[in-house]
Amino acid sequence: LLPGRMLRCAGRPERRPHALVRELSGRYDAVVVGCGPVGATAAILLADAGMRVAIVDESWHPFPFPRVESVDSAALSLFRRVLGAEAEKLSCAPASGPAVYTDKSRLDKPTVKPALYADAESRASIFQPQLEDLLRSALERHARVHEFFGVSARHLANEAEPALMVEDVISGKMGTLSATYLLGCDGAHGFVRVQSGLQLRVLGSPASFLVVDAEAPLDGLAGTSGELHLVADAERPLVYAPLGLRELGARWQFGIRPGEDVPALRAPERIRTLIAPFVAQPERVRVLQHTVYAHTPFVAERWRTRNVFLCGDSVHSTA
Ligand SMILES: Cc1cc2nc3c(=O)[nH]c(=O)nc-3n(C[C@H](O)[C@H](O)[C@H](O)COP(=O)(O)OP(=O)(O)OC[C@H]3O[C@@H](n4cnc5c(N)ncnc54)[C@H](O)[C@@H]3O)c2cc1C
Repeated sequence: LLPGRMLRCAGRPERRPHALVRELSGRYDAVVVGCGPVGATAAILLADAGMRVAIVDESWHPFPFPRVESVDSAALSLFRRVLGAEAEKLSCAPASGPAVYTDKSRLDKPTVKPALYADAESRASIFQPQLEDLLRSALERHARVHEFFGVSARHLANEAEPALMVEDVISGKMGTLSATYLLGCDGAHGFVRVQSGLQLRVLGSPASFLVVDAEAPLDGLAGTSGELHLVADAERPLVYAPLGLRELGARWQFGIRPGEDVPALRAPERIRTLIAPFVAQPERVRVLQHTVYAHTPFVAERWRTRNVFLCGDSVHSTA
């Protein structure tokens, strides 16, 4: 069990800041705020349809650690479509479930298999940093997409034609991008949603999980390969997925109890104890990250106001 380390995808090109030379103003058919998987995919689809697109993200690089670990078949086919021939490089493995277990030592016997996903048997495990790397490379190749990385959205004027005030995060230089349409793909914090005055409807109670991701060979892991195991353990409910990807062998999401000592829970020895029931050979397991994922399910009251649209985690988060 090794400590977490920074993940870098092999072959990722360095994207160097060129803050002082670029122009931060312009008029486009569409401006996309946020270059996560949703924004990058939307930008490529719009550009493929003939639009001139600007995409803005305050980060220079994709988030380097795994986040979502599996997607449904509709999302996967969209990613493949926008990646074209490069889709072959995407690490994927069949995923299924969820199935509910009451005893973490008996992962051969599900209690029930609830039909939470319409396509439960055609999901796929993915490695999100690699997906986002490939999407950003596809954007860079697209002649109709202008990328503004290292640029933060600061103010949105939602007039007949949306105008986005942006700031270069290094130089502090300001500019305005205007467009016929603006897409808020800026994640759960939802800058565009907030600026547009769109309210959230909270769907459930907040919950916190300790997420543990590891490289681990499938033959040393308990349970069914690719399946999302929901373990209704009386002491600590958890979600466990032996994913079978080279980059990401397994994920655990352990429920954190209210008031629990989180730093103590994240100590290496404690993590070793938590994952021990699922791992036959601990020496073959390398922990990539352990992080706390705090989540409140929500959906925005609307996904459109005038020519501003909300997409992805900015408009709903229901996991
Ligand atoms: C540990 C962990 C586990 C997760 N597990 C799951 C899961 O099991 N299921 C699930 O559905 N989701 C999960 N998520 C959430 C997952 O990350 C999202 O579902 C997915 O990344 C959403 O994609 P997105 O493109 O909508 O938003 P994001 O990937 O969040 O991308 C938003 C982008 O907008 C940029 N941005 C934000 N504000 C601004 C601004 N003002 N100016 C410029 N750029 C801005 C950000 O830099 C970011 O690149 C998890 C997240 C974490 C951290």
